[in-house]
Amino acid sequence: MTCRNRIAAALAALLFVAAGCSRVPVSETRTLMGTQVTITVQDYDNDKLDGGQLPAAMDSAFVEIARIEDLARWDELKKLNAWAGYQAAPIGEELIGLIDRAYQIAENTGGAFRPDLGPLTNLWGIGTDEARLPAYWEIEEALDLISQTVFTIEDSVYARLDPDGASLDLGGVAKGYAVDRACFVLDDLGVTAAMVEAGGDLRVFGRKPSREPWRIAVRHPRELDRFYTIIELHEGAVATSGDYERYFEVDGGRYHHIFDPETGYPSRASISATAIAETCAGADAYATAFFVLGPDAAVRLAGGLELPALVIDENDDGELVSRQTSSFARLRADERLDPER
Ligand code: ADP
Ligand code: MG
Repeated sequence: MTCRNRIAAALAALLFVAAGCSRVPVSETRTLMGTQVTITVQDYDNDKLDGGQLPAAMDSAFVEIARIEDLARWDELKKLNAWAGYQAAPIGEELIGLIDRAYQIAENTGGAFRPDLGPLTNLWGIGTDEARLPAYWEIEEALDLISQTVFTIEDSVYARLDPDGASLDLGGVAKGYAVDRACFVLDDLGVTAAMVEAGGDLRVFGRKPSREPWRIAVRHPRELDRFYTIIELHEGAVATSGDYERYFEVDGGRYHHIFDPETGYPSRASISATAIAETCAGADAYATAFFVLGPDAAVRLAGGLELPALVIDENDDGELVSRQTSSFARLRADERLDPER
């Protein structure tokens, strides 16, 4: 290191320590998982994490998110899908855990969320260059395959998928899981309060130094530069699924990426669904399920599962209609700003 570099490094470290003393929030945004991911660190343990290690901790959290971004390309998931109907594929504990959770949520939501929609999502290709409106018979065929799909763990290191053509699509939990993992990495490296946000899915942990709750904006589903409501949360995860996130248009019809497993078409039951849960993987998957179920059924189910939820639909006149659980209403900081009131 040259002398000048050394002085610059010493100065940077000094500035950093000064910032550490005042506990200013440190924030960084990167493009990952096809969206903007922002990590905001509000507080950190100086003993565990002295000075210059904070950027390194944030970097490690981003690297962890990038690892999960590649989940669909993980060798073990690719093999499991490619070898469906033929042979078992080697599988690690992490992927088994994630698949188990996804199936658990499928059970809790009566199949509104399903991890085995691969034949259908591949057919539509929404979010890829090959997006298209499939023929009716193709959709029927995919639904038939999905209804027969069975995932079996053979022993702790092998699993198989049947029948031939079956395919798991973990796109409905991947982003939330990535947020959970980023929080885990930050916590492990000495960060004591932070928010990780990835395009509509976020998780907060730790008390802010001010002891105030985190204030989280829920996006307005039709005026995307506005928020629909603000909620206050001390700890936990919030995820929103919207029909505006990813879609393609053909012959005047708009087709988005959240499918109703009953019909095989994008669900028209809602335009946005927000779920709050302990983990972001859970919030992510439940938001997808609540979207599919629509306001009334979703809020009934969410109440039973004790998950705060807000589901919005649009009536024929273009007016927004929403339902929320009472637990969600209690978290709202700004009922006044609700456009319905
Ligand atoms: P976003 O966060 O972009 O709104 P979601 O979390 O709602 O997306 O997940 C959408 C993704 O989940 C789709 O791209 C697809 O891979 C998968 N998916 C779509 N419909 C379902 C469903 N009913 N159950 C489970 N996964 C689904
Ligand atoms: Mg989601």
